[in-house]
Amino acid sequence: MTCNPRYEILFEPMPIGPVTAPNRFYQVPHASGMTNALPRVRAAFREAKAEGGWGVICTGACSIDPSSDDAPLPFATLWDDNDIRAHALMTEAVHRHGSLAGVELWHGGASVMNRASRLPPLSPSGIPWMATHVGFMGNLRPKTMDKADIKEVLRCQAEAARKARTAGFDIVYVYAGMGYLGYEFLLPEYNHRADEYGGSIENRVRFVREMIEVTKDAVGKVCGVALRVSLEELRGRPGRNQPSEAHELIELLADLPDLFDVKMDSSPTDCSASRFTGEGSHEPVIDFVKSLTKKPVVGVGRFTSPDTMVSQIRRGVLDFIGGARPSIADPFLPAKIREGREAEIRECIGCNICISSWHDGVPVRCTQNPTAGEEWRRGWHPERVVRADRPERILIVGGGPAGLECALTLGRRGHEVTLADSSRGFGGRLTFEKTLPGLSAWNRVVDYRLGRLGEMSNVSLYPESTLGVDEIIDLAPERVVLATGARWTDMLYSSMEIPVGRLDHPAVFTPDDIAAGRLPQGPTLVFDFDNYYMGGVLTEHLAAQGVPVSYVTPAGQASAWTIMTNELPLVHRALARRKVPVATLHLLKAFDGETATLAHLFTGEESRIACRSVLIVGLRLPRNALFEALSARTNDLTTAGIKSVDRIGDALAPGAIAHAVHSGHKLAQEIGAETRRSPYRRDTPIVDAVADFELRTAAE
Ligand code: ADP
Ligand code: SF4
Repeated sequence: MTCNPRYEILFEPMPIGPVTAPNRFYQVPHASGMTNALPRVRAAFREAKAEGGWGVICTGACSIDPSSDDAPLPFATLWDDNDIRAHALMTEAVHRHGSLAGVELWHGGASVMNRASRLPPLSPSGIPWMATHVGFMGNLRPKTMDKADIKEVLRCQAEAARKARTAGFDIVYVYAGMGYLGYEFLLPEYNHRADEYGGSIENRVRFVREMIEVTKDAVGKVCGVALRVSLEELRGRPGRNQPSEAHELIELLADLPDLFDVKMDSSPTDCSASRFTGEGSHEPVIDFVKSLTKKPVVGVGRFTSPDTMVSQIRRGVLDFIGGARPSIADPFLPAKIREGREAEIRECIGCNICISSWHDGVPVRCTQNPTAGEEWRRGWHPERVVRADRPERILIVGGGPAGLECALTLGRRGHEVTLADSSRGFGGRLTFEKTLPGLSAWNRVVDYRLGRLGEMSNVSLYPESTLGVDEIIDLAPERVVLATGARWTDMLYSSMEIPVGRLDHPAVFTPDDIAAGRLPQGPTLVFDFDNYYMGGVLTEHLAAQGVPVSYVTPAGQASAWTIMTNELPLVHRALARRKVPVATLHLLKAFDGETATLAHLFTGEESRIACRSVLIVGLRLPRNALFEALSARTNDLTTAGIKSVDRIGDALAPGAIAHAVHSGHKLAQEIGAETRRSPYRRDTPIVDAVADFELRTAAE
């Protein structure tokens, strides 16, 4: 197949200063959670995207000096020769496929705590960033930078730029966004300076200008120099000669960098979840940039549709189509467009599990792409699998995310796969969850897999087929995979977080009841100790159905874990918009059909809420009846020639959809292998052999 002529514009080469990108697909800097401690994992993760056609591949934030230390979060560094070697693995991998490698040099200013380096954080005027939840625990308050500090940071930037060049990078960044040092100089709330770096916008831009100048002096002849800048807040400030200070900033710097990488100011707006924000949401903030500069502009917006991408270019919004999440979900997105295979794009669902990986301090995970982060560790490739030596007849029971992914990967490996599900359609938990407020894009997990499965002659799909032990034995496959999911329980927890048995009352509901179409009588109390999205989203769902509803959780916030996915502020906003009363730090103790008794988590003080029904969003347990029944008939299984029975996804261990997909993929990769545990290769930091030797001899 060939590229649709409409999309050919996406494949035009584009200059960025002295270097030229092979096309307009630009993987903007994004966290990988891999750090310099996992250099091979990181190189392979980035390489997959270069192989898949992204013309530019960037690192995540890469500290220029120990005064910018985000430990324990998994940030990268360019401080010494070992760092150069670690990054060189990535640039070589990217260059192998003809793409450019970019490095996001970064100084966190007052946003970092320097927990490990114990150096005073630097800032324009000593103002802490997000003081209410970052600057506690006895950490250092930022130091106000004097002229010598400014000079030193400029020197570090230039030095890091030279190291970046040695490491093989083609594009070097100056970062002035997201609360970091450059951004703090731009905003008068952080910058109270009375010298030439504070006051007017011209003065506040000075530090960023100097950062660009020193970078250009250091590497500008051979590398493109990019400015990454957040424009949301500045766009809201009227300018003196322009509609806003964002306009004035771009006008002041218009000719200086080789590329503008423009974005929003905070993670929840910059990288917002699809539950609350659609594709292309940055446009109202960044749409003016190209009118004020001739330099190329890149921006993001969770772009997965080639028509939207082309429209961004034709309408003069962007020159490069920036992608972070779309490149994680489908490293081969550009290649699929180039080859006329748009239907095969594995579209990002906007769930932000990838971002939660950064907050957890671990390599990136993705709901749509189970191979993300596993390219080197497990040798998985986003598009290719090793064909099985001997195809086997494999029956999968359950067509939710785990079963679908397992069927797809087994099918690609050449096995004869039968996938059966009790329901009319496939999709498992997503069949209901996609109907909940804001979650329709999540069904891309199902759409992508069903689309591919429909093209495979070695995979048969059987909806409306409830399988028990006898049916399975009659079918006599060589292997059985159970992907039968999990069920929500009506168990409660004590203040010690110990399960204290069921809340037994006919008006107690679980999410499974709501999925089955039962609507509780209002007023309904939602008691959520699952703490991810389900409690919040079901509360919204009930409110939207006209059921008066209140929300109670023992956690400190509604849907507390969604802090990890950038959704938490928007969950609270959504509940407030629907006028839902929210009670945090409370346990549900009892319910008699008319009143629920709550107890404060810490004081034990009891209170009562009048309600006719209770929805408990708490503990999930695997749906294991079929597995247990099969385990009781091992002799019959052997007689039927069934060699193995495995469980995957929620049937094995209930969790987020990302885990179910990963579990289904993992089993499909490993099934039939002599040892079921896939090799989990451990990466090691690159260390200078000479320095190691000196250390050893000193110790001897
Ligand atoms: P996961 O997230 O692990 O994929 P889901 O709960 O989304 O799990 O999907 C489980 C699927 O298994 C559901 O679609 C359900 O209808 C199906 N299922 C459960 N038990 C059986 C069974 N005995 N026969 C056929 N399908 C089943
Ligand atoms: Fe997209 Fe979710 Fe994958 Fe992140 S984890 S890239 S948001 S599908």
